[in-house]
Amino acid sequence: MRGWAESRRGGLTLVLTRRCPVRCGFCPQSFEDKDMSPAVLDASLRSLGRRFGDSGPIKLFGGEPLVRPDLVRQAVLGAARLGLKGGVLLSTHGKLMAPAMVRFLRGHPEVEVAFGRPSPWAGRLPRVTLNFILEPGARAEVVLRRLRRSLALGHKSFNFLPVYFIPWKAGDLAGLRRSLAGLARLIKGLRKAGMALEVKNLRRQGRLPLYNDGPCVDTDGTVYCSNLVLAKGMKPLAEVLRLGSVARPRLKAAPSPAALGSVMTACFSPEAMEGTRAADAALSEFVHDLR
Ligand code: SF4
Repeated sequence: MRGWAESRRGGLTLVLTRRCPVRCGFCPQSFEDKDMSPAVLDASLRSLGRRFGDSGPIKLFGGEPLVRPDLVRQAVLGAARLGLKGGVLLSTHGKLMAPAMVRFLRGHPEVEVAFGRPSPWAGRLPRVTLNFILEPGARAEVVLRRLRRSLALGHKSFNFLPVYFIPWKAGDLAGLRRSLAGLARLIKGLRKAGMALEVKNLRRQGRLPLYNDGPCVDTDGTVYCSNLVLAKGMKPLAEVLRLGSVARPRLKAAPSPAALGSVMTACFSPEAMEGTRAADAALSEFVHDLR
């Protein structure tokens, strides 16, 4: 699967909040009025952060983590105090990014900010990636315009993501392939002209589409094998994904790929799984084309 991230880099996902005020129509997550407590955050960093935070980043996740800027700061400062070598990844829509947070992040080059939409702050932060979302029905010329606008805002690093876990109609898939072919042409042209432009999909591949494949601490301190536990409809299946708790960080072994596959099949409709496979295959062709 090309459409996600970080799974080969290790690291630890921290769900700082289950809240998100944005509610993108395509988002597969379930939302709850729950935040991580500062004590659980501290315990997560001291136990699991020490164990997983050198091989990959501490991923600050939600919901929308910037609903709780205090926890974002605590996590960044805590990881720095512990001397974790994997850095920090802040995954945010960007709408709640405030000037005070930008000033804070400018002092922390170990933090990579992954925006969910083009951000005017892109050129002001030390390390930025744009999760470039490709929705069904988006016309190729509109997608290319969005890439040009993102470049004008200072974005130079991109992770292209078709919307997953929805049924993709044949016409929408053909449109996705057109958009990706146009993006590949534009990117090659810009590179040829000397622009340093990074496509993260070239370096990333994981077992799960969209979700991280590695330990994930939920707001209440329960540890799961993936943030897949945040998906709508996953609650009754959460036990299969549960590894332990930050209070007793002796974690169980992660479920096998077959068990993970069964959880996904039980949670998502066959049409949504087929749409995910087809959209990811189009993304893989794009990656192949750019190599
Ligand atoms: S994609 Fe991100 S910003 Fe959009 S609703 Fe889901 S959590 Fe919120």
